[in-house]
Amino acid sequence: MSTIIAPRGTRDILPCESYKWSYVINTAAETMNDFGFNEIFIPLFEHTELFARGVGETSDIVEKEMYTFTDRGGRSITLRPEATAGVMRSALENNLCAQGNFAKLWSYGPMFRYERPQKGRYRQFYQIDAECLGIQGAEADIEIIDLSIELFKRLGLKNLEIVLNSVGCEKCRPVYREKLVNYFKQHESELCETCLNRLDRNPLRILDCKKEQCGKISDNAPDIYDSLCDECKDHFKNLRDGLERLGFTYKINKRLVRGLDYYTKTAFEILSGDLGAQNAVCGGGRYDNLAEAAGGSHLPGVGFACGLDRVIIVMEEQGCNFGEIPAPKIYVVARDDEARANSQIITHKLRANKIAAVNDISGRSFKAQMKAANNCKYICFVNAAGELELKNISDGVQKNLSLDEIIECLKK
Ligand code: ATP
Ligand code: MG
Repeated sequence: MSTIIAPRGTRDILPCESYKWSYVINTAAETMNDFGFNEIFIPLFEHTELFARGVGETSDIVEKEMYTFTDRGGRSITLRPEATAGVMRSALENNLCAQGNFAKLWSYGPMFRYERPQKGRYRQFYQIDAECLGIQGAEADIEIIDLSIELFKRLGLKNLEIVLNSVGCEKCRPVYREKLVNYFKQHESELCETCLNRLDRNPLRILDCKKEQCGKISDNAPDIYDSLCDECKDHFKNLRDGLERLGFTYKINKRLVRGLDYYTKTAFEILSGDLGAQNAVCGGGRYDNLAEAAGGSHLPGVGFACGLDRVIIVMEEQGCNFGEIPAPKIYVVARDDEARANSQIITHKLRANKIAAVNDISGRSFKAQMKAANNCKYICFVNAAGELELKNISDGVQKNLSLDEIIECLKK
């Protein structure tokens, strides 16, 4: 029988790596807390319809990337490809924004998309997600972008670029859409097949086609900015002014779009120069019409999703700090076989006092225990009579102490 390996596009985060992930998630939790965002846990799977409506039938995700299956009860279920739709569903279902309240929520966890695996692109990948629901004004967009940048700063990331755009709203976008279709129709013969398909269904998405030929045509396409209504123009100006007040520089990219009707106004991405083709570490924007698309009442929102896998790749490439590799503080060494039971009792008592302690549970010799104790700060020798000796590895000082004295000493 052949050995079973992990499915394509998935990977194991082994102990030699997992501490980096914990470091990033802990840093995110602290940053979110400092910004007044509360953590939310949502299901890893939802009714397929939520994503069909909440991500959009014409998006790449829904068209070709979802893990969808029928469960034993005959329901169509999808592993979540992103978090926003689920957070919105939860906010509506649990009335988190009733009576004009707003909610600032964050979460993290795995997302699932059937994509071609490559560096920075996996089928199970991880996102940190922040959503601000119930606020219409640009202050919320500013806070969301500020939050993402503060997180990256605390992680020590360098060479980041904020890219901004406005995609308008249901009032002004139809006008822009028409201008765009007229323009692209003149270049129909030069567009790739996918973009030709998008021409009727979702012309805005042609703008972010990565093919060189389509890119050239898009570069000369009408600028959405000229079609924005006053409200969207004001919002975009308020956003830019606010970012400038906070000292941020940004680039405007008119080809940065979210092609679906419920994405409104702000679209942004944070790019890293150190990532190659998969260069976005974070993507976000405003989605004032998503709640209605998901069957709820009007609830504006703005948020971001940060790709954890890519953040960690960039941090590794930039030599960022991941904190200390976790190691027990003290190793309890049994002087001989008769002392083994005591080493387990002492370790048990140290742990009960919240001291990170280990002892050998695999029958190793004294010499092998000493070798294993290498990465600890202290060694506690125990003999068959239960007598203890504490050695501080950094200065080599060794003392006979009682267990209480050792606990006191290590708690310092
Ligand atoms: P891309 O253009 O790279 O496919 P996207 O527009 O599909 O990105 P979003 O849906 O905005 O990405 O997700 C936000 C972030 O999640 C991205 O900026 C990226 O860092 C990360 N991400 C998206 N898809 C993957 C994936 N398959 N593997 C790893 N990270 C991903
Ligand atoms: Mg994608």
